Amino acid sequence: MRKTIGFAAYEAGGDIKEFVFNRRALGDFDIRLEIDYAGICHSDIHQARGEWGKARYPMVPGHEIVGRVIETGSKASRFKIGDSVGVGVYIDSCRQCEPCLTGHSHFCDRRVTETYNSLEQDGQTPTFGGYSTDYVIDEAYAIALPAQMHVAAAAPLLCAGITLYSPLKHWQAGPGTKVAVMGLGGLGHIGVKFAVAMGAEVTVLSHSPSKREDALRLGAKQFVVLGEDENSYRKFDLILNTISADIDLEPYLQMLKIDGTLVCIGLPGKPYSVRAGTLLNGRRSLAGSMIGSVKECQEMIDFSHQYGLLSEVEVIEPQQINEAFDRTVRSDVRYRFVIDIRNWRQSRLQSEQ
Ligand code: NAP
Ligand code: ZN
Ligand code: ZN
Repeated sequence: MRKTIGFAAYEAGGDIKEFVFNRRALGDFDIRLEIDYAGICHSDIHQARGEWGKARYPMVPGHEIVGRVIETGSKASRFKIGDSVGVGVYIDSCRQCEPCLTGHSHFCDRRVTETYNSLEQDGQTPTFGGYSTDYVIDEAYAIALPAQMHVAAAAPLLCAGITLYSPLKHWQAGPGTKVAVMGLGGLGHIGVKFAVAMGAEVTVLSHSPSKREDALRLGAKQFVVLGEDENSYRKFDLILNTISADIDLEPYLQMLKIDGTLVCIGLPGKPYSVRAGTLLNGRRSLAGSMIGSVKECQEMIDFSHQYGLLSEVEVIEPQQINEAFDRTVRSDVRYRFVIDIRNWRQSRLQSEQ
């Protein structure tokens, strides 16, 4: 059996270290991809550090994966060897419930199989993520990538990209709408690019004054540091909250116009506390959004390709993952770390020869 080399957390908060394991055998409809790039999403950090509970160790994180198909199952027909392919946050679902049958398999009534820290639909086989040399996925849940997008900067689209694209589409961001993005991190900076491309007027709400120039360069019209800058009372139709830390939502809810919506996307560990009065006054909505379906992810890739939108990345070696985790938590990344698996694999193979 083919050995996969990955990088895993062995316990909550422990360092990420090398881990050798076997992927599940290739099924009829599966493809195997050799991984070239894997983005570091803040969700990887939450999970590796046990901040969401339900953690399985050893845990190989990584759900922003770009690779090339190197093997196809006997009945798989969507991809051919050498095709560029992406893997996002989930790799399977029950395929029978109403959400699955109506294009919302990411909201499967029974259970999605997440790319890592999860179990296959058999309820037994653990999944390991993209900080590794290869991945096995049913072709129906893989994302086709244009060959030109086979770059490190495309990897974050597979989670950060779809996670911002989906709510922007759902709440109809576009010409005439005022959108605010809370937190200019991995998710937030792609959200700014997408919202600007859709024609919305975008404001970034940040706690990092040093990101002002970048926000404006990405197309934001305003950059607001909460507590320091102007009054934003009742300014926005849509606010996307990508903040990874525990915060008070109250000042942000105040910024919603009448009938405006604040969408929770960031997933810190603690519950939010919300005053009913703030929602009532202005008929404001507090909502949530979680990634997007495989179909919508494919649509997002087409959109990104059409507008030439990619992530801003800092490319690292696997040996730098622990430092990258710490820097991400300190909001010290411009704007996504991506692990160069290809380069590392080549140098490792050379050293073994
Ligand atoms: P990230 O790159 O670390 O960005 C988070 C941003 O939050 C930071 O850049 C920072 O922006 C802001 N922030 C951090 N600490 C803060 C604090 N103490 N106070 C105020 N703002 C703070 O993380 P990410 O990868 O974009 O992920 C963001 C969150 O979304 C995570 O919780 C992640 O688990 C979650 N997520 C959800 C989904 C979903 O489907 N809903 C999908 C992926 C990720 P500034 O420096 O501009 O203030
Ligand atoms: Zn993610
Ligand atoms: Zn289902």
